Amino acid sequence: MSKTGADKIHQIIDKCRRNCRCEVDIRYDESMQDHTTFKVGGPADFWVRPLGEGFPEFSSVLLRLAKEAAVPVFILGGGANIVVSDKGIRGIVLDTGGWKGCGVIDEGLIFKSGTTMDEAADCAADLSFSGLEFLAGMPGTIGGAVWMNARCYGKEIADVLTWTEVIDFGAAAEPEKKRLPADKADFGYKLSPFQGKDFLILNAAFKLDKSDKTKILNEMKKNRNDRKEKGHYSFPCAGSAFKNNRRIGKPTGQIIDELGLKGFSKGGAQIAPFHGNIVINTGGAAAADIRALIDIVAAEVKKKTGFVLEPEILFVGE
Ligand SMILES: Cc1cc2nc3c(=O)[nH]c(=O)nc-3n(C[C@H](O)[C@H](O)[C@H](O)COP(=O)(O)OP(=O)(O)OC[C@H]3O[C@@H](n4cnc5c(N)ncnc54)[C@H](O)[C@@H]3O)c2cc1C
Repeated sequence: MSKTGADKIHQIIDKCRRNCRCEVDIRYDESMQDHTTFKVGGPADFWVRPLGEGFPEFSSVLLRLAKEAAVPVFILGGGANIVVSDKGIRGIVLDTGGWKGCGVIDEGLIFKSGTTMDEAADCAADLSFSGLEFLAGMPGTIGGAVWMNARCYGKEIADVLTWTEVIDFGAAAEPEKKRLPADKADFGYKLSPFQGKDFLILNAAFKLDKSDKTKILNEMKKNRNDRKEKGHYSFPCAGSAFKNNRRIGKPTGQIIDELGLKGFSKGGAQIAPFHGNIVINTGGAAAADIRALIDIVAAEVKKKTGFVLEPEILFVGE
């Protein structure tokens, strides 16, 4: 980035640090390979992880100053659904991973957005709350799961989400904290009302039922084992590469498999030999390899079947 751009960001960060009582981890030219499950991507100009209770205040000031200075901010959860480009991310990456925790509320539990899904499922189980077993073993954070309306084992986030607290840094000059009730009708397959908006999800509240702890733990163990057996953790990846289109009538993995594309590779990126809808990094893949592989597979599926596949993985960065 240009010296002026870097100076602008230094000034923003300095102001945030002066005005907020918050410990913060800051790194320049930080490789995004270390912050994504695909382990690819170039550097972020500035990577910032505010730690502890000062997170909302620090983030709010940062989002306001960045907006005033026209510096882009990318909000990062666990990096489990993104491919960062080889050139990296210009501007600031605001990492939510230092904002973690769980609390009991009337209807169930509330989580800070940087809590991982595994931590959230474990916390619910500890307190004998049922409803989040489906998240056990899914990589990523509660914030990312709410944003994506993450789903598996017949359940999605919108089934249990009751409200969120966000910082809206879009329209108004000052970022505003808002509490938004969750309406299932606003969510869809891998769709949430947060997409396309300038919202930092701070907290998410879930309606959960008290249940038998052993039953909850057994369900979580079953889900974690199932993922392990399916090879989810064997290679760096970001889960499903393409969305499953219900109108097609069969899972995307099956379509790709039937075309004989399992194991097909481009550079270090490969269609997993064990699952047609997972792209893996076999070692040393570039983001460009993953992009090219996904484009080739989508084109091949269109040519041979007429089906149009939509990537589920998000491509971010320059
Ligand atoms: C092995 C493996 C298995 C997977 N299995 C599944 C599965 O079964 N079902 C499924 O749905 N997904 C699955 N995924 C994908 C991934 O786990 C989910 O999409 C998850 O919700 C991503 O969360 P994250 O925190 O990593 O989000 P990130 O990848 O960091 O970000 C995703 C998007 O959310 C935004 N975002 C993140 N946090 C916030 C926040 N606090 N406020 C505002 N915006 C935010 C980001 O800006 C970005 O646009 C899998 C991934 C892997 C690696």
